[in-house]
Amino acid sequence: MTIKEVPTPAYVVDEGALEKNLQILKDVKEQAGCKILLAQKCFSMFAEYPLIGRYLDGATASGLYEARLGHEEMAGENHVFSPAYRPEEIEKIAAICDHVIFNSFNQLRRFGPLVKRIQEMRGVKHGIGLRINPECSTQDHAIYDPCAPGSRLGVTAEAFAKAVEETPELFDLLSGLHFHTLCEQDSQALAVTLDAVREKFGSWLVRDNICWLNMGGGHHITRDDYDRGLLIDLVKKARQEYAVEVYLEPGEAVALNAGYLVTEVLDIVENHGTHILLLDASAACHMPDVLEMPYRPPLKDAGEAGEKAYTYRLSSCTCLAGDIIGDYSFDRSIVSGDRLYFEDMAIYSMVKNNTFNGMALPAIWRMDKDGACTLVKKFGYEDFKGRLS
Ligand SMILES: *Cc1c(COP(=O)(O)O)cnc(C)c1O
Repeated sequence: MTIKEVPTPAYVVDEGALEKNLQILKDVKEQAGCKILLAQKCFSMFAEYPLIGRYLDGATASGLYEARLGHEEMAGENHVFSPAYRPEEIEKIAAICDHVIFNSFNQLRRFGPLVKRIQEMRGVKHGIGLRINPECSTQDHAIYDPCAPGSRLGVTAEAFAKAVEETPELFDLLSGLHFHTLCEQDSQALAVTLDAVREKFGSWLVRDNICWLNMGGGHHITRDDYDRGLLIDLVKKARQEYAVEVYLEPGEAVALNAGYLVTEVLDIVENHGTHILLLDASAACHMPDVLEMPYRPPLKDAGEAGEKAYTYRLSSCTCLAGDIIGDYSFDRSIVSGDRLYFEDMAIYSMVKNNTFNGMALPAIWRMDKDGACTLVKKFGYEDFKGRLS
């Protein structure tokens, strides 16, 4: 089957594009001498983990469930960072994670010694880290800025110094520091951030017990105009300056532009001169970042409103008035039954979707390098009912 024939709605992941990204990431890690992990919160299509595991060093998780998924499905290292762990899950996490990264000295004090004991029994060394907050905002999407005043994410330099002064033995538990401050950014933003990290945390990073530095995600490494040479230089410099192993954990960069959401036009209505397409895909259900981020997803063979001859508002068959994807134009008029292809739909899509309005979840397909599509999983009424009671 080709992408033109798959039943809609469907996510179709383009394995050729995915592998192209993975090759770029592999080249970067080899040249920079660092390790790169998949951030599963962005892309958890585990059918592709065997492929991803051939290029990257493992996976990172936001909590127990993702950590389990990484442990079960991905070869290589398994890392986790959560803003707060629950007491009933920390032992399970320690049993399957090579790096457990805490968000506060409170959590480190509460769980650090137990995690260390469990990891040591498994022969895992240097497995405990702490997230720092360099308080260096390099972009202006407030919802994606962990460095904003009042942020809960990461320990500030001031809090760090105070905690180490009061309880120096807690610092000794640490083998690494972690920061994650970027979102869809270039390596220039990393350069600025690393200057802030040096200024605020450099004296801790050179300590003997600190042997790794995790620079988080948000590095848009596989985007065409990303400055990979600068990234490689920055990583090399940090490795040398602090005598640490460096980790990067991109999500988006792994599966950037590597998937489609295929949808069909169910109806067309008109209101005050606006022609509105009702699709069997929904922004609210199937691409929530369109409303949350917000952004306008690229659409194959379409232009900005008014750019081509026929302009339509793309909307969905939910009852939410604001479930609007955007205004797009086409070279020809659109009729019911036409299929549209949203691009860049592998990332932050299937991991975030929902069945609001009882909407069907799109099936998940893989497309090989020759364009042949194979069904990976489809969903039905039971998936909707199964998470209700
Ligand atoms: C979201 C996140 C990532 C991945 O971010 P991308 O923007 O998808 O690259 C990595 N690490 C942490 C801690 C995150 O919260």
